[in-house]
Amino acid sequence: MNTKFILPLLASGLILSCNTSTEKNTEETVPATDTTAVVEEAPITDPEATEVWEPEPEVVTFNENGVPSDAIVLFNGENLDAWESTNDSIVNAPWAINSDGSMTVAGGTGDIQTKESFGDIQLHVEWRAPQVVEGEGQGRGNSGIFLQDRYEVQVLDSYDNRTYSNGQATAIYKQSIPLVNATKAPSEWQAYDIIYHQPEFDADGKKTKSATVTVLHNGVLVQDHVEIQGTTEYIGKPKNEAHGEAPLKLQDHGNPVSYRNIWVRKL
Ligand code: MG
Repeated sequence: MNTKFILPLLASGLILSCNTSTEKNTEETVPATDTTAVVEEAPITDPEATEVWEPEPEVVTFNENGVPSDAIVLFNGENLDAWESTNDSIVNAPWAINSDGSMTVAGGTGDIQTKESFGDIQLHVEWRAPQVVEGEGQGRGNSGIFLQDRYEVQVLDSYDNRTYSNGQATAIYKQSIPLVNATKAPSEWQAYDIIYHQPEFDADGKKTKSATVTVLHNGVLVQDHVEIQGTTEYIGKPKNEAHGEAPLKLQDHGNPVSYRNIWVRKL
């Protein structure tokens, strides 16, 4: 036989055999209506097809101190009206206000805290270590920012001042060591920018979700979405008693640390 006729014959035989095999498989395994078939979407060629216009983010403006217009100003150098003494809530915060728009810890008068309570926040705080450099380790320029009254982001003059790593500036005290030491010399002002999400508790008071915190120190990431294990204790393990919104607190550790330009945004 001429090969001109053999090849088409072989080919048709092959197709028949394939069809038979497919039909057989179809009968045995594939249901009558195949809902798993993948429908290939037509490729998008119009750039506008992937644009989303709503909602439109609100416009934020900034004042001369760089404070966003949707922030709550907690201290701008004028007064301590947003603050009270932690020891005695009917007494206004007793720390000293300076002529340069800062305030300074009045050692021995105790911590101060906001009158308002907060949950999830973005917080901006500027601080400066005492201008007379004295003391060592935890005794040099120690203060602290307590989130929800119980979780301390350490404030410490960690410029050329070794101490335990989970107790230096920007440590989540005794829980999380900063990624780097971005502390400036004590003559300079420095900034903390903190993003904090509060913990969650069930109806029985059991913690179901840890608080998380991100800290930028002078613009440098030092705590990267870290889980807070519980209260930042000086002695012993963290505790996890249920709580709701709570004040921000600044620590009087006996050292004249100064603060300025403090604002917060609720998240
Ligand atoms: Mg401290």
